[in-house]
Amino acid sequence: MLKFIAKLFIFLTLSTSICLAQIQTENIASIGEEQKIVQTRQMMGTWAEITVYSQDAKSANIAIESALDAMTAVDSLMSAYKQDSEISEINRQAGKNAVSVSPQTFWVVKSAIHYSELSDGAFDITISPLVRSWGFFRKQGRIPPQEEIDQNRAFVNYKLIELNSEHNPLTPFIKGEYNRIKLLKNGMALDLGGIAKGYAVDQAIEKLRDAKIENVLVNLSGNMYAIGHPKDKEAWHIGIRHPRKKESLLGFLKLQEEAISTSGDYEKFFIHDGKKYSHIINPHTGYPVSGVASVTIIAKTAMEADALSTTVFVLGPEKGLKLIESIDGVEGIIVKMDEKEELSFVMSEGFSKRFVLLQQ
Ligand code: ADP
Ligand code: MG
Repeated sequence: MLKFIAKLFIFLTLSTSICLAQIQTENIASIGEEQKIVQTRQMMGTWAEITVYSQDAKSANIAIESALDAMTAVDSLMSAYKQDSEISEINRQAGKNAVSVSPQTFWVVKSAIHYSELSDGAFDITISPLVRSWGFFRKQGRIPPQEEIDQNRAFVNYKLIELNSEHNPLTPFIKGEYNRIKLLKNGMALDLGGIAKGYAVDQAIEKLRDAKIENVLVNLSGNMYAIGHPKDKEAWHIGIRHPRKKESLLGFLKLQEEAISTSGDYEKFFIHDGKKYSHIINPHTGYPVSGVASVTIIAKTAMEADALSTTVFVLGPEKGLKLIESIDGVEGIIVKMDEKEELSFVMSEGFSKRFVLLQQ
């Protein structure tokens, strides 16, 4: 059995380590010669990186800039950490008032509810009270008393999100007028940590397509979307990191006009009495999920890949694989961990056909 946890990162650009948010253009070349252009920017508690191969560095840099702006805008609307975000306002008004929101926030919340329905509540963006209770919101892990877990579970229920959208054909989707969200119980709160990064990547891709960028990889902390290919390669190669060896790869696959996302137990976690508690919580039990080390999902949009990687992580190998196989255009790998911390994996059929295993 394989011993690993998977985490995505760019296989071919391992050396492109994330540094200061600045424009880096490799090669000083005139128009006509293809160059690699990379920009990084800090957002959502992590880094976004956009890599483009283009013959026109100036236009590419402008397009990348606007794509990064679109991602930053998603953060401003949907962050639970930013007091002036729409999500924070929805949370403040829980049990009181409906809040008018942008079409973007409305769409992401609506989509999140779709994944809740698909998974019988395994994915649930009202998870916030439990995330806070376990100390993940402030990054100070703790074991809450059972009583507190039970109390918080009463506030975790996606069915208590009320959506209200009135479509006016003359002024469709005007901010603040027609899209309203209300949390029905005081004490509820939204956390889009399992879906918003993917959506931000999709927003970036939209800008890059508008600008006719042909060869690009957008990466927001393991949520990626690829178009075209790097110079002299037929496709972007996306590496999956070996779980216990940060610097080595388990394997890789080619990605084109698709998204990929990984949820793992190895980046945001704490250890108590020798037991690991990670940041993905089962809404039904109120406890962090154990028995899964990581899930990698390929999908048509980065939002879907992001939401499903978290969903399948909660569902576990059996139900998770079933869900993956039931959705068109979705493939994935689930890395399990038994009580002795032995790791093994299951893959969907489509995933196994394209995954190149490098080591066990
Ligand atoms: P990362 O945040 O590392 O990109 P994920 O995409 O898997 O990883 O999202 C995990 C985040 O999703 C958690 O930090 C938390 O904010 C939120 N979350 C935790 N449990 C759930 C759940 N059952 N359903 C929806 N979101 C969750
Ligand atoms: Mg996710």
